[in-house]
This record gives sequence, structure tokens and C-alpha cells, in this order.
Amino acid sequence: MRVTLLEQPGLEPTGGRPLVDSFGRTISYLRVSVTDRCDYRCVYCMSEQMSFLPRKEVLSFEEIDAIVSAFVARGVSKLRLTGGEPLVRRDIADLVDRLGRHLGDGLEELTLTTNGSQLRRHAARLAQAGVRRLNVSLDTLDERRFAEITRRGRLGDVLDGIDAAVEAGLGIKINMVAMRGVNEDEIEPMLHWAHGRGFGLTLIEGMPLGEVGLDRVDTYLPLKQLRERLAQRYTLVPTDHRTGGPARYDQVAETGGRIGFITPMSHNFCESCNRVRITCTGTLYMCLGQDGMVDLRAAIRDGGPDALDAALDRAMLLKPRGHDFVLDRSHAGPALSRHMSVTGG
Ligand code: SAM
Ligand code: SF4
Repeated sequence: MRVTLLEQPGLEPTGGRPLVDSFGRTISYLRVSVTDRCDYRCVYCMSEQMSFLPRKEVLSFEEIDAIVSAFVARGVSKLRLTGGEPLVRRDIADLVDRLGRHLGDGLEELTLTTNGSQLRRHAARLAQAGVRRLNVSLDTLDERRFAEITRRGRLGDVLDGIDAAVEAGLGIKINMVAMRGVNEDEIEPMLHWAHGRGFGLTLIEGMPLGEVGLDRVDTYLPLKQLRERLAQRYTLVPTDHRTGGPARYDQVAETGGRIGFITPMSHNFCESCNRVRITCTGTLYMCLGQDGMVDLRAAIRDGGPDALDAALDRAMLLKPRGHDFVLDRSHAGPALSRHMSVTGG
């Protein structure tokens, strides 16, 4: 049933009207891609020869802050910085400091998703700015395989970055894209490693976003089946733990840790979607898997705060019911030409 923006019962915005889409979903979670650039070229995310946007097209820190402030005023309580690799953006810690001032003033959580390569340099400052936990992407614990998957990364840098984050008191969740024939055999070792260190582990199904260097059909590993297999060896107890994202979690009795499953391909959870994403050029995408967008950069550059607010209302009317990813031999190409690194994972 479609409902209009102001028909939502019991919604108390912190500032302006709450952000409610035409399917009645309240948007409380914003992901901001601060750069489309990255020091890695993961095979499922980018092509070997990626081209990146000219720097002048990228939002300034002031513009990002203005946009984030508008979202927080309309009830967004959770903010995740991502990319590309957020920690390769110059002076990123200044942006995190700046955004951290919203914490306790509408914003409840400020987090990042990172490949971890630059964490040693940044961990302490992130913690000082009010970041409490990070998602670190790590698909393998094997050095050679790591270099192959990332096409240029060094596993040691990431492990050292994770150590630095732990020393700074940051909570860690490991994100692992599960790929048949690539790292499927490492899921159990990763589970033991992550839980042994007190980290959560979330497995992700590869999504058909952008032309990359991987056969997405061959490497697709349905996590529903994988969970059934794990359940034969471990006691998986479903929990209602939520982090605001799309993962569904089980407690693993044998390791005492939590495992999450993000299953956009085998089971999407679009009906409870509470998120929107902004690219580093200020394009607001209401769905990771659809093309509908609203240009927030034009709104702030040409119109100011009122135009920005009106653009957010427009976006709520345009947010689609969900994505419709299909992956088989007859749909082997990308569902969208836009890479995950552009929209922000
Ligand atoms: N560079 C950072 C990182 O790797 O954590 C942040 C950006 S990255 C795009 C965010 C997340 O998206 C990572 O966990 C990555 O593994 C995941 N990802 C990238 N491309 C994907 C795809 N096609 N399907 C599923 N997950 C993907
Ligand atoms: Fe870079 Fe993250 Fe994409 Fe890997 S997944 S290429 S680290 S943006």
C-alpha cells in the first residue's frame, strides 16, 4: 500500500519531516561514498583498468557536511562512510572529525567500511572522532590469494591495520565476499580466526554491479545453501541482532561469535530497507541495484538548503520497492553498469 509522506504514525523527526518513502519505509541510514578511488582493484568490484572521476567533480568536505546535516535534521541516525576506499581520500580524518560533531545530536553512529590498508595511520584519530566500530573487508587469510583477489594488496598491511584498530579500541566486523572456487574453502578458517579475535564475520553474496574481472555466474555462492552446510557442523542460533544493515545474524555456539549473511541474490530484504546512498559526486541513489537518482550536488550548488530539502522529498517518492538482480548464464553481464565502488558499498 502506498502512503504519503506525512501519513506515518508515531514518527518524531529530530528536525524537519522524517524521510519516509512511498512504501512506508523510514530512511534512517545514510551511506556516503567519499571517493570512487581505491588502492586495490578487487576482482569482484573493479576492472583492472578502472578509470576514476576527475577530482573537481567530487564533493568538498563542506558539501558533504551540508548534505549529511540535512539528512540528520530529517531523522537519519546512522552514517557510514565508504567508497572506493574512504581512507585514501586526502585529509579524510578532518572529515570524520567534522561529521563526528553530529554524534549525540541526532546522529547515533558514525562508522566506516574500509579495506584496512591505511588503518594503521588512521585508527587512533577515527576513534577520537567518535567512531566506535569499523567494517573491514577481508576475503582471505592467504597472502598469495589476497594479492590475487585485490590485484595489488598486501595482506600484512590489512592485518597490521586491524591490530591498530583494536589498539585504538575500535570494534571490528569482517566482511567477506563468499566466492565459489575462490575462497569458499576459507569460510570456516575465517570464522575461527575472526571469532577467536572477538570480531564478527559477515558473508556477502557477490552482486552483478559493473564489468569486472570475475565470472560472476561461476563464482556465485548462494549463502542460503552455505548456511545449511555450516549448520551441519556448527550450532547456529538465529538472533534478532541488527546493525541497521541488511545482514541477518546467527550466534555460533562453538565459537561464541556472530556470523552474518547478506543475501541480495538468494533472498533480498528490500521490504525493510532503511538506507540510501550518496556517491562522491553527490548523486543520491535510493537503491544499490536501480538507476533512479537525484542530484544533490546541483541542489546545494544551485539552490541551497531549501532546494536540498526538496530534493530529499523527491527522492523519497522515487525510492523503488527493491532491486531485481538476476544471475544466470542468460543474464551473465552486470545488472547495472555502475560499480559498487561508485555507489558505495
Ligand atoms: N573499499 C572499502 C572496502 O572494500 O571495504 C569500501 C568500499 S567496498 C565497495 C564495500 C564493500 O562492498 C566491501 O565489503 C566489498 O567487499 C563489497 N563489494 C564490492 N563489490 C561487490 C560486489 N560486486 N558484490 C558484493 N559485494 C561487493
Ligand atoms: Fe577497493 Fe573496496 Fe572495491 Fe576492493 S572492494 S576494489 S578495496 S572499493
